[in-house]
This record gives sequence, C-alpha cells and structure tokens, in this order.
Amino acid sequence: MRVDSGQLYIDGAFREAADGRRAEVVNPATGDAMGSMAQGGAVDARAAVDAATRAFAAWAATPAPERAAVLRKAADLILQRRDAIAALMTREQGKPLRESAGEVTMTADYFQWNAEEARRIYGDIIPASTRAKRLLVLRQPVGVTAAITPWNFPASMIGRKLAPALAAGCTAVLKPAPATPLVACAILQCLHDAGLPAGVANLVAGPAEPIGEVFLTDARVRKISFTGSTAVGKMLLGRAAEQMKKVSLELGGHAPFLVFPDADLDQAVEGVVSSRYRNAGQTCICANRLYVHEDIAATFSQRLAARVQSLRVGRGDDPSVDVGPLIGAAAVERVRAQVEDGLARGGRLLCGGEPLPGPGYFFQPTVIADLPPDALLRNQETFGPLLGLWSFRDEAEAIALANDTPYGLAAYLYTRDLGRAVRVSEALEYGIVGVNDPVPATVQAPFGGVKESGMGREGGYEGLLGFLETKFVSLAVPS
Ligand code: ADP
Repeated sequence: MRVDSGQLYIDGAFREAADGRRAEVVNPATGDAMGSMAQGGAVDARAAVDAATRAFAAWAATPAPERAAVLRKAADLILQRRDAIAALMTREQGKPLRESAGEVTMTADYFQWNAEEARRIYGDIIPASTRAKRLLVLRQPVGVTAAITPWNFPASMIGRKLAPALAAGCTAVLKPAPATPLVACAILQCLHDAGLPAGVANLVAGPAEPIGEVFLTDARVRKISFTGSTAVGKMLLGRAAEQMKKVSLELGGHAPFLVFPDADLDQAVEGVVSSRYRNAGQTCICANRLYVHEDIAATFSQRLAARVQSLRVGRGDDPSVDVGPLIGAAAVERVRAQVEDGLARGGRLLCGGEPLPGPGYFFQPTVIADLPPDALLRNQETFGPLLGLWSFRDEAEAIALANDTPYGLAAYLYTRDLGRAVRVSEALEYGIVGVNDPVPATVQAPFGGVKESGMGREGGYEGLLGFLETKFVSLAVPS
C-alpha cells in the first residue's frame, strides 16, 4: 500500500471500502490533494465489529507477556519509521516536522508504556467476614471497543486509545478523523507488521455518522472512547446510554494561563508561546485565556507581543517554521470571526489579526487584550493561533476568572511561590494543571477533563483501567 493511498484495515487485511468509494486527503499547507483514502460506511464498520468480536476471546486469553510483546514490537516499528510517519503527518495535518516527529515518538511511547503495564493488571483478594468464603476481584477486558480520534494529534490519539485497549485484552475498531486517515493507516501498518492477530485492531475511515451509528447501535461494542468536540461528545454520551455502553470522553477546553508577579517572566513568555502556538493553536489543552497580574501586565504584554510577532508562519516542512497552517478554510474562518468580534467589542490588538493569503490555510499568530466578558474569544474554544489577554488584581480574582467557564480540561500557572503554586493548583477546577509547565501531557499520567471537558482519563494506569471491568467472585469454601 502506498502511504498516500490509504485503505481500511479489517480482520488483518488492508482493503477498499465495500462500495469502493475513496476521497481525497488535502495538504493544508497548499490546499491541494496529497493523497486519497478509502471511505468506509456502515457495511465496513459492521465487518470490522464482526472481526473484532471474533478476535476477542483469543486475544483476551492471550497471556499478558505475549500481548505486551506485540505492543513493544509495534512501538519499535513506529520509532524505526518515525521520519517517514512524521513527514506524512506534516503533509496531511500541517504541523512543523519537529512537532510531528515528537508526536510519533510519543505514540510509540504509548505502546511501550502500555506493553509494560499489561503485565501488571492485578486483581484483589479481599478478607471475608467468614472462613467459609473467599472474595476475589478480577479485572477483565471490557470487550470490543470503538475509538474515535481527532485530526489535531493524528497519531498520538490513536496510541492513547489503542495501546491501553489492546494491553487490557480488548479488541478495537478505530475511526480516525476524515482529515487525517493516512497517518492512522501508517500506525495500523506498524501493528500489522508487529504480528497483531487478525481482527484485534481494525480501521474504518469515512463519514462519521454511518460509522458512528454502528458503534452506537451494535450491542457488541461495549465501550466508545472519543476525543473531539464537546457537541459530538454530548451526543455520543446520550446515545451510548441506550445500551449502557462505557464511554470515555476527552472534549474541548478553554485553558486559562495565570502569570503571577513573582513568575520568571522569560519562562512565562516562552510557556505561553509553547502552549498557545504549538500545533498552530489546535490543541485541546492550549492556553486560550491569558491572565496576567496587573503590576506586570504592561511589560508582559509588550514582551509577549514581540515574541509572538517573531514566530515564523509557513509550511511545516520548512525547518525554520514555528507555526504551520490550520487544518482547513473553516478553521481560518473561525479564528477570523473571533478576531473580528473581539475588535468590534473594543479589544486591543497587540499583534497579528489577519489570515495570510493562500495557498494553504494560514493565520497570523495573534494576541488581543482587554476583551469584554461576552466576547467569543472569551467563551468559545479557539483552536487557532489566537490568544486573549486580561489582567487580574489578586490570587482570588485569578482563580475566579480561571474557573469561570463550563470547560475544565487544562489550566496553567506561573509563579515561584511554592505556597501559591499549591493553593492555586488545588483551587483550579481542571483535570490537568501545569505549574510553570506548558506541556503537561505525558503517557504515564492521567489526561482528561472535568465539567464539560469530558469524563474518564486516558494515559497512565487510569487509562488502562478504562478498558477493564471489575468482576467480583464470591467463592464459598466448605471447611
Ligand atoms: P472537530 O471539530 O475537532 O473535527 P469533531 O468532534 O467533529 O471535532 O470530530 C472528532 C472526531 O469525531 C472525528 O473523528 C469525527 O469524524 C468524529 N465525529 C464527528 N461527528 C460524529 C458522529 N456523529 N458520530 C461519530 N463520530 C463523529
């Protein structure tokens, strides 16, 4: 299979969709087709669920070290192919090559870490109240699982879902985002080449609704793991209730980034830039609202604006580029609308503010200060290189402003005061807090949100637990 001509992967084989449909995949840096992908539908999704169901019993019964060996091998292959997968990712998704390479490494790390952890899925023996019983707790794989992934991290989101699912002994059907199916094929190819038995992992790309409908209505699918928008997440949660499927949801965010007057300001400027402008701002844990203490707000905003203006925007395959394209025209339009709304409401433009002429979907890295509370940028997830900046008076106000949102995924604070770091971290209503750390996500730690940012955690041991059911066995033991 050519890397720019993707196929579905069902029951251990790459193949075309049942009805033969294909769609172009667009390079967001040029707006041109860079490849094409088979477009599966309900028939293909059903075939994948059939295969995953057939494969489940044997995979679940495979000794953990053997499951682990396959995952480790897959991790090795992903690393061996890192440069090729990263180049493909940059063409398909747009992010700068070094970010793509970092993401491929992290993807391998998900498989490696979960391979190690597969051997440590322990149960419990609980002391009974009588000599005539033994109380055992078993952890067993939940069964066939569905994974729905977004385009912003087209490889690592697959690692984050498939690695713990397979480590736990589950089988899986993956539906990648329509914009980035080719990287998904490359990862599934590594699993295939690592010797994963047929049907254990399957890939069905194509339009979301018919495939999603199979996941929601086929009772054999016992869990849906979703990363994407809050709107789709709410729909999936509601519909999953019909069959009481397990769900884990990693949804939108609107991260506050607090800079206290005792912070190392150079580090804080770099932290904001890394958090907001990495992946062109298309990260669910990106800083969206910057709150700076009033004593340092003027200096800080000048320094930040100068730094943001120095970022080079362009094609991700140019090594000098810091900020690549957005995923498509609608993404540019969304950022433009937030800028226009902000300026119309009296916001102060500190830098940027305009889309860049094509080809490709580029927007200048932008900062707007002093927006009113009802501005779109203050309330709606941006998913682009645009940041809002406000000032605050004291710690209590900073916490109140930070928590004033229905979202609760990630929050950041910069301070050198240990007491403040502890107090504020504890008070932030978020699933993830970065203290002087703009990139908190890592494979061995739980990642996920509170409030409307989702439920369940991915990564770390909690991520693995999400693919396990607890079974209690009460054993009567005659004396
Ligand atoms: P975004 O706006 O970031 O693309 P979405 O929530 O629309 O976020 O997409 C995230 C993932 O969810 C993608 O793989 C997308 O195809 C999928 N998706 C979107 N709508 C549905 C749906 N109705 N059922 C199942 N999956 C869906």
